[in-house]
Amino acid sequence: MKALIKDQPAPGVTLKDVPDPELLPGHVIVRVKTCGISGSEVSRYRWARIYHAGQPKDMTSVLPRIMGHEFAGTVAAVASNVHGIAQGARVVVQCVVGCGSCVECDAGLPNHCLRRKMIGNDLDGGFAEFVSVPANCVYAVPDELSLDTAALLQPFAIATYALELSRIKPGDRIGVWGVGQIGISMIQVAQLAGATVEFAVGRDKSRLEAARGIGARHVVSVNDTDAGDFLVRTFGKDRLDAVFEVSGNVLAVTSALSILRKCGKVVVIGNPTGLLQFDLQRAVIDQLNLLTVRAYSLSAWRRALTLICRVQDQQSALPIVRMPLTDGVRAFERAATGEGGAAKFVLEP
Ligand SMILES: [Zn+2]
Repeated sequence: MKALIKDQPAPGVTLKDVPDPELLPGHVIVRVKTCGISGSEVSRYRWARIYHAGQPKDMTSVLPRIMGHEFAGTVAAVASNVHGIAQGARVVVQCVVGCGSCVECDAGLPNHCLRRKMIGNDLDGGFAEFVSVPANCVYAVPDELSLDTAALLQPFAIATYALELSRIKPGDRIGVWGVGQIGISMIQVAQLAGATVEFAVGRDKSRLEAARGIGARHVVSVNDTDAGDFLVRTFGKDRLDAVFEVSGNVLAVTSALSILRKCGKVVVIGNPTGLLQFDLQRAVIDQLNLLTVRAYSLSAWRRALTLICRVQDQQSALPIVRMPLTDGVRAFERAATGEGGAAKFVLEP
């Protein structure tokens, strides 16, 4: 079969002919219909420093690896000791594989399991015609949900988990800083929870327009505007209940802290690097909350699979570019260089 492989500890990916995956006990083989390229995969393609030997996300020991962790497809084969999954079923794959026997896994938090493995990173992933995955990572896709939308469940589940942790209530007013796929999902889940999305901050015009199209009241381009200044002018008096930071920008957090009402929350989902400096006394006086989010819990994943059906109509408005898996190298080049704007690239075997 054809597969897109990270085979060298250097920039790039390679399209190769590889043997079909073996059906192991406890596993299911999925025929991939569609697999999204995530921001972290673009970083791995570029071979960002964080993935080098000895760095926090050292990937050198797992190469060569078929990447891809945002995928949906149909079940092609089922191991004889697996029950409850039928051949031909439409499925989406949850990519965080916990050890299954630690305190975190018991709590449904494989995202915090110290022995977790990521499909597409530690295990072969979905940039291939077929992939073998543990049966408990396979979830049936509801009839009304397309496989194309189901493949976007990963970022949607992160947003759903952030929403749960933030305890947003109907009537709350929130903002979202960052309009990548997680930011867009954040706008969607917040509205499903009854919140008003007062603003979305981002860089790319098409994504900001998508944010406006799905309900963000103000969209702010950091290219044209000092976003922090705009937010203070607009919300400095009529403050917000929560701001979700999805851009990885530390400045977004300090800016958010200045527009929160008392007991407000800033929820950090992005991967900011650098040190955060803010007025701690002011934060205590206003009893502000700083929450962080890492991936998602299994219950959030399951809930997201139901919720995403309710925004399926909006997904077609998002800037998504679909390309065949055989053009995968080109798709990564385009994603890495920004050719095609900030569209999300999706590969189809
Ligand atoms: Zn575990």
